[in-house]
Amino acid sequence: MARLTVLTVPDPRLRIKAEPVAQVDEAVHQLMADLMETMYAEDGAGLAATQVGINKRVIVFDISEHLPHLPPMKMANPEIIWRSKETVIEAEACLSVPEQFANVKRHKSVRVRYLDEHNQSQELEGEDLLAKCLQHEIDHLDGIVYIDHLSTLKRQLILQKVQKLKKLFKL
Ligand SMILES: [Zn+2]
Repeated sequence: MARLTVLTVPDPRLRIKAEPVAQVDEAVHQLMADLMETMYAEDGAGLAATQVGINKRVIVFDISEHLPHLPPMKMANPEIIWRSKETVIEAEACLSVPEQFANVKRHKSVRVRYLDEHNQSQELEGEDLLAKCLQHEIDHLDGIVYIDHLSTLKRQLILQKVQKLKKLFKL
């Protein structure tokens, strides 16, 4: 396993739309394991391959601290196949936008189809935190960062704060 470097805004690689994997093979297994290791090392709850500069539709997340019944999840080619009309506004944060958070409007519930680590097609439906996490991570695969859902003014403020932090800590 290897710990990878997490890209931060405004890195243009965060804007690349990721390609589907043909199947979950040994290389995708390795990527899933590396993403997990990196996510835990960075104290994050989720990570998409896009965030480490890998152009593949693979995400991992672990929100078992809040949803103990849900094991750490590894997904390839996740796709939202249903969204609730109801929306919620909740705070979000992201390893690619260090030390910042902001309220984002999301669908309250979503259903996702994906390939699991055994290359089996699965579906997972979630609401609230799980739905937020799925939408946030799948957004990354489409080159979208949560700050894109904010007003231009709020987004600029956050980008400026991140630039200052990067200078200060030479990130
Ligand atoms: Zn993120």
